[in-house]
Amino acid sequence: MSGGSTPSAGVRRKEIVALHLYSTLSRTVEPLVTRNPGRVTLFVCGPTVYDYPHLGHARTYIAFDVLAKYLRWTGSEVFYLQNITDVDDRIIDRARERGVSQSVLARTFETAYLRDMHSLDVDAVSHYARATTHIPEIVHQVERLIGRGAAYVAETGVYFDVSTFERNGELSGQHGTDRVSRITDEGKHAPLDFALWKFGEFGEYTWDSPWGRGRPGWHIEDTAIAEKYLGQQYDIHGGGLDLIFPHHEAEIAQMESLEGKHPMVGYWLHTGFLTVEGKKMSKSSGNFITVRDALKTWDRDVLRYYILLSHYRSPLQATEEGLANAARALEHIRAVATKDAGEDREGRKAFVDAMESDLNTPMALAAIRALADRGDIGALVEFGEILGINFLRDASVPVRILQEIRAELRARREFEISDLIRERMVDAGITVTDPSL
Ligand SMILES: [Zn+2]
Repeated sequence: MSGGSTPSAGVRRKEIVALHLYSTLSRTVEPLVTRNPGRVTLFVCGPTVYDYPHLGHARTYIAFDVLAKYLRWTGSEVFYLQNITDVDDRIIDRARERGVSQSVLARTFETAYLRDMHSLDVDAVSHYARATTHIPEIVHQVERLIGRGAAYVAETGVYFDVSTFERNGELSGQHGTDRVSRITDEGKHAPLDFALWKFGEFGEYTWDSPWGRGRPGWHIEDTAIAEKYLGQQYDIHGGGLDLIFPHHEAEIAQMESLEGKHPMVGYWLHTGFLTVEGKKMSKSSGNFITVRDALKTWDRDVLRYYILLSHYRSPLQATEEGLANAARALEHIRAVATKDAGEDREGRKAFVDAMESDLNTPMALAAIRALADRGDIGALVEFGEILGINFLRDASVPVRILQEIRAELRARREFEISDLIRERMVDAGITVTDPSL
């Protein structure tokens, strides 16, 4: 589960124990202190699987992929949980439009999501959990909230009573009702109250509950799944900036109302928005770029390099020009990083310092460029695994072909030509090991 790589000899362990992260809850950069030393529990809101993932998803999930990989590199054990929202209005609508069942639609786009993330080398998640396979856990959590007096049954569903939770609004700073006041026709006691369980027949994804048939609300899916695998308190919760209100605010209210355990998580991490050519990416603006389309033009390494050139909390402008520049910068690194000049302690420390500073990947990439210039090939390989970027020319195919030709030449006892190829390979910085005869 945790990555195999360990801190390089060039960076001593005591220098990398102070990862600092900005938490939306405290609004400050703080050193990461986990509930159990050496172990990190991380939950990141997963996708609603009704369409293909876009570059905004790529941005968020690459950021948390790098966080998990970095933590594992420092020697921490990381349990990274991600939910899959496969019950949602958008899934119901899209399935109806296409004339397919909700489960077929959800499985189709769940598979597309996992495949696209794999294409981006986003592979640090320890466990994915679907909402539809956790209905008993969801129902059990709603039951307990009703039992605690934090939720009530109305005509249209079961609602969380926001007035019972005094810390409401702490994460988002939003205590007002203006954003949701138009929603008053659901039989709720107050505009900010939100659904835990919605009554009705929603086709395939409808379940029995002690209060009536229906389906879960969005927020409760996440806390039921998180409680099952991580407990009521864990270390880090992540997601896109747009999820802070009402989604994450609701998650805190639900989980902390179960038994009064506070805080639900120590650190709230949010990724900034992604805009395309200056506009927020959306279907209606016509600038919606899916991961699969982006990968037709740009390879994975260029996309990751480009995304990581911006700090995860900053807005990210996706532009053709920016991607082309990123491709050139990566090509430059690969062009200069050909001969191994050994360990560059200073450069390695600069990389680690940047990562420790709230995952400052733009600075970390500057350190990578310096490491390439100074020829620390080992660091480029090691840190490349953390960032999910191959900083070296992919020599594996030509090298394999040359090795095959040399084996054939040796079999024909053409040792002179075989040795000449070997010499030239060594000159080019390629390690050549011949199998013992
Ligand atoms: Zn969520």
